[in-house]
Amino acid sequence: MSNVPDQKRMKQDCENKRECLEILQLILDGEASTEQKNHFLKEHLEECMPCYKNYHLEVAIRELLKTKCTNHAPQDLVDDIRKKIIQNLAR
Ligand SMILES: [Zn+2]
Repeated sequence: MSNVPDQKRMKQDCENKRECLEILQLILDGEASTEQKNHFLKEHLEECMPCYKNYHLEVAIRELLKTKCTNHAPQDLVDDIRKKIIQNLAR
């Protein structure tokens, strides 16, 4: 994900938000098929703003938890991190 899409031309709403979130989790867990990955990462994220943000949010959270060396971070910590990242994205 080196190329940042033109956010003004992206959709502000995702009509498949729930499906997208499921695929997103599969991709991050390494369980998505190549087809799912290609479609979601190379096509959908290019045009879907909420999913683009969600994806980077989840990646950031996972990276952060990794650096803290824990797979079992308390939920309120995760929520806190999530909030901070959302604030950053909104800027
Ligand atoms: Zn979407």
